[in-house]
Amino acid sequence: AISVVDLHKRFGQLEVLKGISLNAREGDVIAIIGGSGSGKSTFLRCINMLELPTSGSVAIHGETIAMKSDGQGGQMPADRRQVERMRTRLGMVFQSFNLWQHMTVLENVIEAPVHVLGVPKDQAVATAETLLRRVGLYEKRDVYPAFMSGGQQQRAAIARALAIQPLVMLFDEPTSALDPELVGEVLSVIGDLAKERRTMILVTHEMKFARNVASHIVFLHGGRIEEQGPPEAVFDAPRSERLKKFISSVH
Ligand code: ATP
Ligand code: MG
Repeated sequence: AISVVDLHKRFGQLEVLKGISLNAREGDVIAIIGGSGSGKSTFLRCINMLELPTSGSVAIHGETIAMKSDGQGGQMPADRRQVERMRTRLGMVFQSFNLWQHMTVLENVIEAPVHVLGVPKDQAVATAETLLRRVGLYEKRDVYPAFMSGGQQQRAAIARALAIQPLVMLFDEPTSALDPELVGEVLSVIGDLAKERRTMILVTHEMKFARNVASHIVFLHGGRIEEQGPPEAVFDAPRSERLKKFISSVH
């Protein structure tokens, strides 16, 4: 579903990603772990071109995002419309919910289907209500985000990301801004998606969760994939010293 080849990203002199290649096939649940500053968020943001990779390529569903030189040693999308089309195949959930505050939960969820994809409103509402039921927020559909808990807001953000029927869901630490008692309800929604074998790439600090839901773990260190493999291998038999140290530090 997603293929990333030799992705590099620099911010000025700082090279944050130093050649990352990753394939997510349909049904894969890939958890990205690693210390603060290792490049996890930047990597995720490069996949949907919220950050422009300095070099390397990203393909979604077999279609490579065309890039051209930006004239400053980097690159930029050759075709804005292609990027917009690609983004409709990706559902992104951020650490900080990012719901539109001036819209109710239902309005948040139908916004992109109606205004980006051109889905008829009654159809978008029906889909949204189904999604809100799934994340346990049907009763909150007419409520504004400010009146909901962080866990509810994040579940609404997940429903909103699902509403465009993305091929792949991208999660960047979806629970790290939540009070501890609200983490479980959000992980449980994400866990259900994993059980349905929905393709996803998830940056997380929740190691137990990563171990239980992921099909593949990727450990980033200093902008490189230091080690990767199935959860049992990565967590029970880490080979790299850095991974061993990381695992013992988060337990
Ligand atoms: P965390 O676990 O703290 O979220 P991370 O692994 O997600 O960390 P990134 O946010 O990808 O790390 O950042 C990687 C490095 O890139 C850091 O050194 C960060 O300071 C730097 N960086 C990220 N975004 C920018 C930016 N827009 N401009 C300059 N430097 C940046
Ligand atoms: Mg991050």
